[in-house]
Amino acid sequence: MADTAETDWVSRFADEVISEAERRAPGEAIVCASGLSPSGPIHLGNLREVMTPHLVADEIRRRGLECVHLLSWDDYDRFRRVPAGIDPSWAEHIGKPLTSVPAPPGSPHPNWAEHFKAPMIAALKELGVEFRGISQTEQYTSGAYREQILVAVRERARIDAVLSRYRSKPGEPKQARSEQAEDYFPYKPYCDLCERDLTTVTAYDDETTELAYTCECGFGETVRLAEHDRGKLVWKVDWPMRWAHEGVIFEPSGVDHHSPGSAWIVGGQIVGEVFGGAQPIGPMYAFVGITGMAKMSSSKGDVPTPADALEIMEAPVLRWLYARRKPAQSFKIAFDQEIQRLYDEWDALGRKVTAGQAQPAELAAYRRAVGTAAGWLPGTPHPVPYRTLASVVDITTGHADQTLRILRDLDSVESLDAARPRLDRAQRWVDDHLPADQRVRVREAPDQELLDSLGPDELESLRLLADGLDDWSLEGLTTLVYGVPKLQAGLPADAKATPELKTAQRAFFALLYRLLVGRDTGPRLPTLLMAVGADRVRKLVGA
Ligand SMILES: [Zn+2]
Repeated sequence: MADTAETDWVSRFADEVISEAERRAPGEAIVCASGLSPSGPIHLGNLREVMTPHLVADEIRRRGLECVHLLSWDDYDRFRRVPAGIDPSWAEHIGKPLTSVPAPPGSPHPNWAEHFKAPMIAALKELGVEFRGISQTEQYTSGAYREQILVAVRERARIDAVLSRYRSKPGEPKQARSEQAEDYFPYKPYCDLCERDLTTVTAYDDETTELAYTCECGFGETVRLAEHDRGKLVWKVDWPMRWAHEGVIFEPSGVDHHSPGSAWIVGGQIVGEVFGGAQPIGPMYAFVGITGMAKMSSSKGDVPTPADALEIMEAPVLRWLYARRKPAQSFKIAFDQEIQRLYDEWDALGRKVTAGQAQPAELAAYRRAVGTAAGWLPGTPHPVPYRTLASVVDITTGHADQTLRILRDLDSVESLDAARPRLDRAQRWVDDHLPADQRVRVREAPDQELLDSLGPDELESLRLLADGLDDWSLEGLTTLVYGVPKLQAGLPADAKATPELKTAQRAFFALLYRLLVGRDTGPRLPTLLMAVGADRVRKLVGA
């Protein structure tokens, strides 16, 4: 596969990561990392957190090197708030680790975190993302980070000094800042009685590691931190601790982590000064927007997820959106009509690749979309244009026999399976995202009132159309609908379009749309005619 110089952003990062890994940890598997919080439905926008390192890790594997993509589930984070649509009684769990909160009612999963991880894991599998999931609950409660926790607590003054570089406001007396340092403690125990993190560390002995805490619930105890597995490092310390612990070489993060004093900036200092590690190569990635979700039924009350996107587009197309844009470029994922244009672009790229005319960066993005180092992702054997499929399933209301008849006539599709999974994605898009006022309803009976009002030229145009329906192919029908106005103007079939001719064609098309679907516009006419069928077209145009 690697027969061209793949000079895209993924390849450049892979070069950088490989040479950095050789410097830091020669001979070891290269570690790329992502982190996700299963505090609720995982927003489609967060997929970039996984796709960016995935693509780089995949490129490294394509080059025959061992690479691990760690996906840290921040499931030991506290449950912060009860989302809309969940019983308000869940408020009693605020402050507990996400893995100690019951899953929403009816869920087959053992807890809140697992409930929201599951659909993301399924989506990542469909996307061909190979990763090693790490539960932070498991890590912390098994004592995996014990040494790092003790180091962080021992070095708390140093950590506080780093934090205070950003904390101080102009004009604030230095005295006030050093007093704050007395109280700084980077480890937060979860209460042994109520499981919540409403705790305050009241004493700590560096010699014995004895730690006393009290909880807002009234409970309090003294534990030995060297044996304590029910608490976690605060986020700005936890993140650099893991970079060092896991030897992460590449981990991108969102714009929000890159302002002064934010976790990435502070972590970059803590990782070396406290944990003796190094910050990963970590590009900042831009926001991914979503269009067209407003039109979606809001009854579900939740956010667009990767699973929602995969219901309306195939995995390679979703992968392509990430592969073709540099992390710093923002882009939008369309749930509205734009998805048809996206698919047109995707098909055009496929043709360029087949013809050997794709530019190196385009070709690289295409290859990253259609497969991984492990092999090809499932594709659609007979990829009919998405907009055509959407029109057809809209017109046939998903009726299988009619759909197959039309697809056979349109594009020699031999079976519906050959058109899948793209056909199913288009069906889902029509069902869930095509607004009711844009759906096509072919008239049952002719619009007699409209037919009666037509003049002789219009009636003649309809007769010419009806007479020409014998050439029942997409090409024949295209020639026919453009040709009728030419014929009426006394022009040859291959006449160039003039402004007058274009006006006549627009008027003719509008008339056909009104007679067939009762509106001024609709799907492309040849497709529409094919979907409606010759007999019904003749009936509806009164010929
Ligand atoms: Zn408590």
